[in-house]
Amino acid sequence: MVLRSLLAVALLFAAPLLTAPAASAAPVAATARAAAPVAAAACSGYVALTFDDGPSPQYTRQLLSALASAGARATFFDLGSRVQQYPDLARATTAAGMWVGNHSWSHPRLTQLSASQLTAELSNTSNAIRSATGQTPTLFRPPYGDTNYAVQTEARRLGMAQVIWSVDTRDWANASTDAIVRSATGATFGGIVLMHDGYQTTVNAVPQIVRGLQAKGLCPGRIDNTGRVVAP
Ligand SMILES: [Zn+2]
Repeated sequence: MVLRSLLAVALLFAAPLLTAPAASAAPVAATARAAAPVAAAACSGYVALTFDDGPSPQYTRQLLSALASAGARATFFDLGSRVQQYPDLARATTAAGMWVGNHSWSHPRLTQLSASQLTAELSNTSNAIRSATGQTPTLFRPPYGDTNYAVQTEARRLGMAQVIWSVDTRDWANASTDAIVRSATGATFGGIVLMHDGYQTTVNAVPQIVRGLQAKGLCPGRIDNTGRVVAP
């Protein structure tokens, strides 16, 4: 397990590790502190960054570019109604190397719906994502984390693992950029960080979140089809 992670890390970070020290070879030799970024680049584990409720004409592209600059990949739990409205943004999300999951069509409390309404919320969204991106989602997050056996079973029937979160940054409740950074960087090995594709504070937090996690040896990861956070 450890060996496999180390191997994956070595492969993933071979290029940055080889190039980064070259620029700062002299200072690194001079102080112990300067060596920290190199050590931090080795991932001892992964944390998933997730962004809900998009795509959004105001924020999706900003998030994609902040993530790209930080060298991070993330999961976007998109709403079917918004994917239908902004298919180009959903396409840009997967084209940027991000993963798109299903967050229902209209953001209802799914546990309060009839079986047929539930099916429509989930399957119409997967269809919209497939038609926009060419990819069928394998991950699903219920709005408000509101779920039960029927919801989870329906998601599984449609080929999706249910994903909740371990850290809520409360960006949706007017948390400041600093507060979002603090919560997100508090994530631990295998954690899943809840954020939203809808706030400037969240966009602004991305670079510091990635740096803060890396300082703890944690790298942004992918959520696999069993809901575990793994190497991208
Ligand atoms: Zn939501």
